[in-house]
Amino acid sequence: MSHVAFGDLARQAADLGAELADALVRVASGGWYVLGSEVRAFETEFAAYCGATACVGVASGAEALYLALRALDVGPGDDVITVANACMYQAAAIRQAGARPLFVDIDPATHNLDPALLEAAITPHTRAIMPVHLYGRPAAMPAIAAIASAHNLPLIEDAAQAHGAWCRDGDHQRRTGSWGALAAFSFYPSKNLGALGDAGALSAANEDLAARLRRLRFYGWGEKYVTIEDGGRNSRLDEIQAAALRVKLRRLEVWNAARRARAGWYRELLADLPITLPIDEPGHVYHLFVIECAARDSLRTHLLDHGVGCDIHYPLPAHLQPAYADLGGRSGDLPHTERAAQRLLSLPLYPELRRDEVEYVAAQVRKFFG
Ligand SMILES: *Cc1c(COP(=O)(O)O)cnc(C)c1O
Repeated sequence: MSHVAFGDLARQAADLGAELADALVRVASGGWYVLGSEVRAFETEFAAYCGATACVGVASGAEALYLALRALDVGPGDDVITVANACMYQAAAIRQAGARPLFVDIDPATHNLDPALLEAAITPHTRAIMPVHLYGRPAAMPAIAAIASAHNLPLIEDAAQAHGAWCRDGDHQRRTGSWGALAAFSFYPSKNLGALGDAGALSAANEDLAARLRRLRFYGWGEKYVTIEDGGRNSRLDEIQAAALRVKLRRLEVWNAARRARAGWYRELLADLPITLPIDEPGHVYHLFVIECAARDSLRTHLLDHGVGCDIHYPLPAHLQPAYADLGGRSGDLPHTERAAQRLLSLPLYPELRRDEVEYVAAQVRKFFG
């Protein structure tokens, strides 16, 4: 074998075979293509899966983040606390809502928002907190939720990489999407739960927020064509995507377990090398398997030269992006975020990845270190 792709969605489609095809034909022949019975059924099923009160399907994960802010009336003059290591989606949405992103550093062990830094970042301008469950690892939700509630601030989870991830709340497990007032999910095809194109959703802690989101995703209409109750836009979800998502949602637990098993193989095969492996937690669903290594750039070149797909998630933190220069972010502001950006490397990891492929990747990593 000479090549292991970073991702391979055709394998997943092949596994789903007739079940996926049947769902697509059902929608195509049914004659109703946008916001219909498939979307409603998916919303009910996904809300139940997450342990949320309601779910509202939208056009993408980015739309979900933006609409969450709108539904909570976050706008000009408001600050939203988030992280800078998760590819700017959060900052872009906050900006789009007219608010200002305020970045907090990560815990270097988890790559997620460091709850120990959260309280000190809150000011009278803070209107919401947007933690990200990065790479499939749930953020430290019990600690973050306690601080948010002490300050009466809503939480918006960015759960785009963490469908089905959970952390403990006392003695029970709580999935991502059930902690915040709202949580944003992306169903971009490569996510743990992926559509056949763009799609997203919000889970909501109450029906009022869900009702508001249903208006916002559909031009703000109260009664269709008659009243605009909220300045909305078109952020609808297609029936065909919802139908595909319903088929795939039934596999999500099995797929997440397969991701965890493959993470375990890497952990076993890479244990003694001079790299930092992700700390395992039972609720981590490994959207990505991210290692840290001082010689990251040369390891990456070596792997690509030997047919191993790998990538950097993400090379330039949000506070150092040209688009946000006006926020005044400087190199050195977020030391753990910046250090991780220099050292991270994502190895191939998906439910259909074979044992021999994981062994090949591990052997190439080993070869790099001689
Ligand atoms: C993918 C992703 C998004 C954006 O989702 P889209 O569906 O691509 O708009 C937002 N946040 C995170 C953490 C993501 O990984």
